[in-house]
Amino acid sequence: MNSHPYADQYPVLRGLPSEGRDRGAILAELREMATQEDSFWQTGKASGSFYCGDMDHYAFMSEAFGLYGHMNALQRDVCPSATRFEGEIIAMGLDLFNAGTIADGDPVGMITSGGSASILHAVLSYREHAKASRGVSSPNFVKPETGHVAFDKACHLLGIELRVAPIDQATVQVDLGAIDALIDDQTIAILGSASNYGYGTIDDIAALGQLALSRGVGLHVDGCLGGFILPFGEQLGFPIPKFDFRVPGVTTISADTHKYGYGLKGTSLLLFRDRALRNGQYFFQTAWTGGKYCSPGIDGSRSSGLLAATWAGMVATGRDGYLRYARSIFDTSYAMQDAVRSHPELRLIGTPSFLFAFTSDDVDIYHVNDALRARGWRMNGLQYPNAIHMAVTRPQTQSGVVEAWATDLDAAVEYAHTNKDAPPQSGAIYGSVPGGLTPEADEFIRAVMSDMMDQQQGLPPA
Ligand SMILES: *Cc1c(COP(=O)(O)O)cnc(C)c1O
Repeated sequence: MNSHPYADQYPVLRGLPSEGRDRGAILAELREMATQEDSFWQTGKASGSFYCGDMDHYAFMSEAFGLYGHMNALQRDVCPSATRFEGEIIAMGLDLFNAGTIADGDPVGMITSGGSASILHAVLSYREHAKASRGVSSPNFVKPETGHVAFDKACHLLGIELRVAPIDQATVQVDLGAIDALIDDQTIAILGSASNYGYGTIDDIAALGQLALSRGVGLHVDGCLGGFILPFGEQLGFPIPKFDFRVPGVTTISADTHKYGYGLKGTSLLLFRDRALRNGQYFFQTAWTGGKYCSPGIDGSRSSGLLAATWAGMVATGRDGYLRYARSIFDTSYAMQDAVRSHPELRLIGTPSFLFAFTSDDVDIYHVNDALRARGWRMNGLQYPNAIHMAVTRPQTQSGVVEAWATDLDAAVEYAHTNKDAPPQSGAIYGSVPGGLTPEADEFIRAVMSDMMDQQQGLPPA
C-alpha cells in the first residue's frame, strides 16, 4: 500500500485545517479522485467488488442517502422512517428466501453493516440461544473449509471454538461425514454456503439441513455473496439447488445487499427462521446512570442514510431488474468459463455459476494471473491449491469484455508457458494486506499490518 497515494496531486494534511475550505473546491478534489478510481473497474476487468456499476443507480441511492444520512437509526422516536426502511428491507428479504413456507417458526430479520457483521450476529445468536436453551458452556461452530473467513473471525471475537471439515478436492463439496463427526453436545451450529467465496460453488444445503435437524443444531446458510443473485438464477432455470427457508433445517441466512443487492457499501441482511434465535443477542442495561439502554446488535448509533439508500435501491430495481441483471451475469460468466475450457492446461474447479475459479496442473496459475494483471485484469488469488477466481458482476456484462477476456487469457496461458522457470509475482491475498507477502510468522503479518495502519497516519515505518 502506498502511504500517501495522492501526495503528488494534493497537499497531505497533518492536522485539522485552521480555516475551513471552500466546499466547491473540496467536491472538485473528491470528484477527481473518484473519477480516477472508477475508471479502473469501469473497464469490466475487476473481479467482484463493484457489483452494480450503474452510475445513475449510485447517484439515485446517494440522493436517498443524502436525505437521511444525518439521522440516527438507534433513535426511533425521532427517526421512525428507519423502522419503515428496515421492516420493508427485511420483508423483501424474507419473501425472496421463501420464509412464507416456514411452518415451524416465526421468521424475522435484522440489518447489519456488512457480511462479516451478519455472520458475527448470527454466531452470537447461536451462542446465546444454545446457552439459554441447552446450557452450552464451551461452544463450538462447525464449518466446511470453504466457509468464509468471517466465521473464523466471529469465533475468535466471541470465544467460540471453530471446527473445520475438509472438502473433496475434485468436487470441492464438504465431506458430510466429517461435519457429522465434528458435531458434539457443545456444537451451536454448522455452516453451508450459497455460494462460497473461493469457488462460487453451492454446498449441499438439503443434506446439511437433514444433518442439523438430526443432531439438534442450527444451520446458517451464508448467502452473503449469492443471496441476491442465486434466487433469480433459479427462477431463470439455471441449475441452482434449493438453499433457502424451503429447506428443512435452515435456521439463519445472511445475504449482502451491498453485493448483488446492488446497494451502497455498508448493509447486509440477516434472516432467522424463528424469532427466539434472534432475540438471544439483544443487549440491554437498565441500571446505567445515562438511562436505560438497549440495542438490537453490536452497533450503537448508525446512519439511517444507508437504510434509506438500500431500501430505495431495492425498490427501484424490483424483481424484474434483478432477473434481468442475473441473466446477463450468468450468460457472461458461462461465456467466460468457455474461454477457460478452451485451454487444456486450465481446469475449472467444481461446478461454478456466476463466480468461477480455475487452476492448472501444467502451468503456474500465478503466471497466468501475472499476465492477466499486466493486461489490466484484477482477479482474486486462492491457495491450497493455488487458483484464481473471477466473480462476474455487471461491469463484465458490457459488450466487448468477454472477447477481451478470451484474447487476454490466450496470451496469459502463452506467457505462463514461456516464463515457466521464473518465479511468479502473484500470491493469494484477500483483504487489505499488501501483495508479495509470504504468510509465515504471526509476528511478521502483525508488523506488516501495523506499518499499513501507521503509514495511513503518515508515521515513518517502525
Ligand atoms: C463477502 C463475503 C462475506 C463477508 O462479507 P463482507 O461484506 O466483506 O463483510 C461472507 N461470506 C461470503 C461468501 C462472502 O462472499
